[in-house]
Amino acid sequence: MSPSKPASAGAALQPRRWVPVLTPAQLQRQAARLHQAVPSLAAAYSDALRRWMGDPVLRLVGLPIITECYRSPERQDELYEQGRSKPGPVVTYKRGGESNHNKVPTPALDVAFLLADGSVSWSALLLSKFARLMKAADARVHWGGDWPGFKDRPHFEVLG
Ligand SMILES: [Zn+2]
Repeated sequence: MSPSKPASAGAALQPRRWVPVLTPAQLQRQAARLHQAVPSLAAAYSDALRRWMGDPVLRLVGLPIITECYRSPERQDELYEQGRSKPGPVVTYKRGGESNHNKVPTPALDVAFLLADGSVSWSALLLSKFARLMKAADARVHWGGDWPGFKDRPHFEVLG
């Protein structure tokens, strides 16, 4: 960078931050959500996240985030109404109390990706790549994308 350039031009020449990063508040929320999960699921997620961030390509594509872990029965009922009495696509077939998300601690969590431009992605391709890491981390992990019929790709859970 030439020192004769005005400061504003210099700022524009700063290297771009390609890797999406979480703010301290977002990091805190992620830790709180992970803390709601049963230990085996939390460990599998942490392991998958570490492997993802250790991959030179994947880490540039997007940052895995937990969008939801524990979900109150009231919120489950709200989600159930989506695509039924309320607008939007059907996102669940479980009513309040029926979902693994409603248990404490929670054997289920939902994943999405924070992209470098700040948007959130539920890309089926990225979720399938993350699912591979989750299942490699712990064979007890089940991925909603593997379910017959309704595919719940953001969803991961441990059974037993
Ligand atoms: Zn889910």
